[in-house]
Amino acid sequence: MHIISYRNLILWMGELILLTNLFYCLNCMRVFKSEDKCDYCNSENIELLKKDAPVNVMGSKLKGRLLRVNDNTVSLIIITENKDKVIKEYDASKLRKIL
Ligand SMILES: [Zn+2]
Repeated sequence: MHIISYRNLILWMGELILLTNLFYCLNCMRVFKSEDKCDYCNSENIELLKKDAPVNVMGSKLKGRLLRVNDNTVSLIIITENKDKVIKEYDASKLRKIL
């Protein structure tokens, strides 16, 4: 039997709770809060946006990975041209899921 520590359980639950509130559309790839259909194209083909998911900031070439979500504000880890890691915040409506 696999035993996980109390601390790891809390961390694991924390990650689940933190990221239950954003979804993306498999049709148009936009990111939003609705749990049943896409805010932008009404598609019901949506999926939970998970931690570390790669996203693009619309209207730019910036790509980042999802770090955390606070309501509509999304923190991304972005790798700059100099290979530095920076954390930046964006509104969920500015993001698009990429592969
Ligand atoms: Zn859509």
